[in-house]
Amino acid sequence: MTAALECKGIGRNFGALAALADVNLVVQPGEVRAVIGPNGAGKSTLFNVVAGAVKPTAGSVFVDGQNITGMTAQRICHYGISRTFQISALFPEMSAFDNVRLAAQGKLADRWRPIGGRQVLEQASELASTAMSRLNLNAIQDIAVGTLSHGDQRLVEVAMALSQRPTILMLDEPTQGMSIQETHRTVDTLKALLSEEKLTVVLVEHDMDVVFSLADRIAVLHRGQLIADGTADEVKENAAVQDAYLGGLD
Ligand code: ADP
Ligand code: MG
Repeated sequence: MTAALECKGIGRNFGALAALADVNLVVQPGEVRAVIGPNGAGKSTLFNVVAGAVKPTAGSVFVDGQNITGMTAQRICHYGISRTFQISALFPEMSAFDNVRLAAQGKLADRWRPIGGRQVLEQASELASTAMSRLNLNAIQDIAVGTLSHGDQRLVEVAMALSQRPTILMLDEPTQGMSIQETHRTVDTLKALLSEEKLTVVLVEHDMDVVFSLADRIAVLHRGQLIADGTADEVKENAAVQDAYLGGLD
């Protein structure tokens, strides 16, 4: 089976700092893979290398066997990778639906006609509707995003990524800053989504309860190196992981 995603020997230096060193990671189609690690471990850098926001200084990234190393984020999106956006990527005065529709449109639209024609608009609206109902966001679709709760805003970001019909969905700390109730709701919503559809997911997450309830396998980064990679039980029992976390769990 061709891996959905493969990182081979990924390195990324920032000046003298090796934020990533020889990271090898294979994610199979349909797998939900968490990437965890203490603060500064290199999780976001790895995420950004895969999504095209940061170029690696060594190694290669393959999506479904195709080498996407060093491509722009826009091009990588066309290879089936969609990531959650930062909060600042939301247009606060626009409705939740329009934010999601714009994300769908961004992928559909012709490069030379970034807004697209009527057909693109209709298609984008359909994709947005589908993504929002899959995340149970229909009730809030007409509300200006800026007035939504933090939890709803983060789910709107997931809907934006989902509307692009990715084969690999990358979630960057989807429950960050959420209350306990919002976190539970988000986990339930994501669980329902993943049980309905075989999506490949890469999840960067701090919250261990979230990781253990969503992920099939867990990769652990520490100081830019992959120190463990396995099931929840394997990772929990790994001595190197225990050491790393005793040194600075965030
Ligand atoms: P994590 O997401 O696991 O907390 P990061 O990937 O954000 O870790 O960061 C890993 C290391 O790389 C940290 O020491 C961080 O300060 C450094 N780093 C990340 N991005 C940059 C950058 N653009 N310039 C310089 N150093 C960076
Ligand atoms: Mg980070």
